[in-house]
Amino acid sequence: MKLALIGFGQAGGKVVDEFLAFDARINGGFVESAIAINSATTDLKGLEHVPMENRVLIGQARVKGHGVGADNELGAEIANADSDEIQAAIDRIPVHEVDAFLVVAGMGGGTGSGGAPVLARQLKRIYTQPVYGLGLLPGTDEGSIYTLNAARSFRTFVDEVDNLLVFDNDAWRSAGESVGSGYDRINREIAERFGLLFAAGEVRQGDHVAESVVDSSEIINTLSSSGVSTIGYASETVETNEGLLSSLTSSDETFDEGAATNRLTSLVRKATLGRLTLPCDVASADRGLVVASGPPEHLNRKGVERGRQWLEDETGSMEIRGGDYPIPERDEVGAIVLLSGVTDVPRIDRLQQVAIETQETTADVQASADEEFASLMDTGGELDALF
Ligand code: GDP
Repeated sequence: MKLALIGFGQAGGKVVDEFLAFDARINGGFVESAIAINSATTDLKGLEHVPMENRVLIGQARVKGHGVGADNELGAEIANADSDEIQAAIDRIPVHEVDAFLVVAGMGGGTGSGGAPVLARQLKRIYTQPVYGLGLLPGTDEGSIYTLNAARSFRTFVDEVDNLLVFDNDAWRSAGESVGSGYDRINREIAERFGLLFAAGEVRQGDHVAESVVDSSEIINTLSSSGVSTIGYASETVETNEGLLSSLTSSDETFDEGAATNRLTSLVRKATLGRLTLPCDVASADRGLVVASGPPEHLNRKGVERGRQWLEDETGSMEIRGGDYPIPERDEVGAIVLLSGVTDVPRIDRLQQVAIETQETTADVQASADEEFASLMDTGGELDALF
C-alpha cells in the first residue's frame, strides 16, 4: 500500500529515513511521500534520505531551532501553534495517491512525543484515509521522565489514530551496544518489519502476481480494529531460481511442496512466538494478518493457510487473514505476522504504573520544595523587600 510517512522528532525522522532506504533496497514502492518535522535544526540536518524540501522546522519563535528538551507539553504546544507550516508540507503530498498516513515518533522525548498526537488529530480531521501511528517506547533505563512522557503520549496518541503500531526499544536493545549503533540496528529492524508489511499491499505493474497476493484492503481491515498492534517476523535463507540453475541440486528436490509448506508453517509459528515489536499475550489479539514474503517459487498457499489456521487457534480470533508478498530477487523466505487490537500487554501496564508513581513523586517533591522555599524566605514579616 502507498503511505505518506511523517516522522516527528529525532527518532521519528531517523526511522522514516530508514524506511526510505529499505523501500529503495527492496524496490517496494510503499513510500509515496516522506516528511520530517522537528524543532531541532541539527536533527533535521542529520537525515540522509528525506528530501530537503520535506524537512519542516517548527517552534522557531519559542525554541529557536534548539529543540524542546524532553518537554512534551511544549512539543504539543508548538505543533499546535505551527500547524500551518506542517499543513503546507502535507499539502504537497499527492494525497489521492495515498492509502494511509503513518506518523512515526519516539514516545519518550519531547517534540515527537507531544507533536505526533497533535498531527494525527489534524490529519484525521482533514483526510478520509486512515491515520496510523508508529510509536517507539523508550528503554526502561532511560529514566523516569522518559517513561512518564511515553505513558502520557501513548494514552493521547492511541486515541487520535486509527491504529497504533508499537515498537518497544526496551525489548530490542542488546547488551554492550553503544546507543548510536544500537539505534542504527534497531531502526533497520523496524524498517524491515513494518516495511515488508506495508510493501506487501503494494502490487506494482509487471509484478509476478501470486495466487493469493495480499491487498492493501486486507492490511487496512486488519488494522481497523483500532487500539494497539504488534508485529512478528521470522525468515530463512533459501536458494533462489538463479542460484539453482548453477547448482547441482535437483530442482524437484528443492521445490518439494511439502517442504515449502512446512517451512512456511513453522516460520509463522516462529514469527508469532518469537520477539514481537511489542511483546504481548498473543491470545489477546482481536485480528491478525499472516504474510509470506520471498521468492515466488518458495511461497506456497497451503503453508500460508496452515499458518493462518494455527494463528486462529492461538488467538481464538475468527478474523485472521493471510496472503503472499512475492519478492523475486530476495534470497529469504519470511513470515510477517500482524496482531491487531492486542490488550494483554504487561509492558504497557508497567509503563503506566511507573509513570503514575513518577507523577506522584514529582508532585510531592514540588510541593515540599515550595514549602521549604517559603520557610527559607520567611522572616516573620520583619524584612522589607526592595519593591
Ligand atoms: P524528540 O526529538 O524530542 O522527539 O525526542 P527523540 O526522538 O530524540 O527521543 C525520544 C525517544 O525516542 C528516546 O527516549 C528513545 O527511546 C527513542 N529514540 C531516540 N532515537 C532513536 C532512534 O534512532 N531509534 C529508535 N528506535 N528510538 C530512538
